[in-house]
Amino acid sequence: LFISFEGVDGAGKSTQIHYAKDFFEERGYKVSLTREPGGTRISEIIREAILDRTHQEMTHRTEALLYAASRAQHVEEFILPALAEGRVVLCDRFVDSSMVYQGRGRGLGFDAVRNINQFATGGLEPDLTIFFNIHPQVSLGRINVKEKGDRLEQEKMAFHYTVYESYHDLAQMNSSRIKVIEANQEVEKIKSEVEKIMTNLLRR
Ligand code: C5P
Repeated sequence: LFISFEGVDGAGKSTQIHYAKDFFEERGYKVSLTREPGGTRISEIIREAILDRTHQEMTHRTEALLYAASRAQHVEEFILPALAEGRVVLCDRFVDSSMVYQGRGRGLGFDAVRNINQFATGGLEPDLTIFFNIHPQVSLGRINVKEKGDRLEQEKMAFHYTVYESYHDLAQMNSSRIKVIEANQEVEKIKSEVEKIMTNLLRR
């Protein structure tokens, strides 16, 4: 089982992905928890290059290709072997993030981003994606973006609105894979909604 967690920065994905890990482990599954960009040594090095706040001259195409390169390494070195061992893989962000951030936020388009990621992943898709639906005005308010934010988080609010709206477009286009959860509510409430979705997945 391969499950990805998506949403704008500060949506609460990281908190919930840890609860999800407990959920599966309590039911006897072996779980691998990972994140993008990152998850392997090479991918983390690429992550640093992408997110460094001083890399202001990075072009959008370079950025998109670096995310894809990081992902290619992650898929081949980490995700596929884990799935082959029968583990549940929980991934904080996957191709959908590139679709909305680089495809729409950077204006490269869904098609171009889908194509390079098709190459990068060999076509691997999550069995299920949980989208944490919260407006960036609310979620980014939780992060001290000005001082601590990475290169992407420091983008203008308009960039984050575009990303947010594009997640909705993607969710509509992939309604059987992407489940939407209201993320502007209490952590416990969100947790139980995530558990409901995962329980249904296990019954499938
Ligand atoms: O989720 P996390 O905070 O680790 O993501 C790191 C940064 O990379 C975030 O600012 C996120 O918005 C950005 N990102 C991106 N495009 C992706 C994946 C993440 O711009 N494809």
